[in-house]
Amino acid sequence: TAPTEASEPEEPLNDSLIEPNDIPSARQIVSIGTASDAYAFTFHQEELNDILSKIPAGWKVSVVSVVGAFRTGKSFLLSWFLRYLETRCVNRRDKITNSSDEDRKWYERVQTLNQHEGSFDWRGGKERNTTGMWMWSDPYFLPRGNNETIAVLLVDTQGMFDHETTVGLTAAIFGLSTLLSSYQIYNVDKRIQEDNLQQLALFSEYGRMALEAEAKTHEKEEDGGESKEKKGKEPFQKIEFLVRDWQNFDTEDESDVASMEAEMASYLDHVLAERAASDLKETREQIHSCFEEVSCFMMTHPGFAVIKNKYEGDVNKIERLFLTLLDRYCQRVFDTTGQDGSSPRLQPKTVHGRELSAVELGTYIKSYAQMFEQ
Ligand code: GDP
Ligand code: MG
Repeated sequence: TAPTEASEPEEPLNDSLIEPNDIPSARQIVSIGTASDAYAFTFHQEELNDILSKIPAGWKVSVVSVVGAFRTGKSFLLSWFLRYLETRCVNRRDKITNSSDEDRKWYERVQTLNQHEGSFDWRGGKERNTTGMWMWSDPYFLPRGNNETIAVLLVDTQGMFDHETTVGLTAAIFGLSTLLSSYQIYNVDKRIQEDNLQQLALFSEYGRMALEAEAKTHEKEEDGGESKEKKGKEPFQKIEFLVRDWQNFDTEDESDVASMEAEMASYLDHVLAERAASDLKETREQIHSCFEEVSCFMMTHPGFAVIKNKYEGDVNKIERLFLTLLDRYCQRVFDTTGQDGSSPRLQPKTVHGRELSAVELGTYIKSYAQMFEQ
């Protein structure tokens, strides 16, 4: 049922048609389900091209993506990322420059985190959002040092591990988002469980296989390619576990986030430490062989007001420690210049070690999305 390039794809269940194209919003780049096939995977190339066309020729592109179980606050977090980027990026037209605002933190200037408008749709209530992948309509441009500017794209995923999406589709969404991102955030609830590690190992292997299958076709086409020399290098860049509702910090002193970050690092070491049992060992080896870097960050509970059905984004009701950690997290994720002499955490998307421009990224995403469509 995969649509060919020539035929119009069946219109999936989304509301992109009624949305005027120039209002910033999340655009659906992958949808699941058509009128005739509830499990069809459809890639919306026009939506992607539309976004990529806003990036000047030759500029490098970073892609930050969030995956994980449904209703774990992924879209809520991404909406906060937008608010942060709006205050930092160089291309914002209506940048807030009210001088009385200057001594307030960026998140203190946000009074309400909108649920729909200007946000990745996040919601209270129990019903699940439409399954698929979403990319923010506008790239954010951040300084990279050396007078270079980097374009940052945000990707949301929806509907994984929710009892209605098949394992195959979850693997496809997880795999594609891993393939297209330079910074993959794996959002997990309360702790990193063995399950989470196994799923990550399985789905990233799925992504790696797609990458290798594609490389093989090219080798054949070019009759003996260079890609062989890159064998043995991890195919993906960065995976970061983001633990939500963490309850076990030794210190919860807001002014000492550094100690909390030390606890995060030692927690990850403990989780990934070598195991004697062969299955546990293989899972860990698999993850290390797929990603150049594995890291961990933790957020505390945002407060009980936030999880109520009728919560509409009042920032005053969010716990202070959550906001403090959120601030620190945004600085970490969108570190494009390097902190304390270390290399920047947010890197352009690379494939086989080469940084991609927007046009190259578009070609690359298209070829993988089409593999998953079959
Ligand atoms: P998604 O399905 O993962 O995208 O989840 P949403 O971002 O739509 O959020 C689902 C619900 O979780 C909303 O009611 C949010 O207010 C709430 N929420 C957001 N962040 C957190 C968090 O860190 N912890 C908890 N417990 N709930 C959160
Ligand atoms: Mg969501």
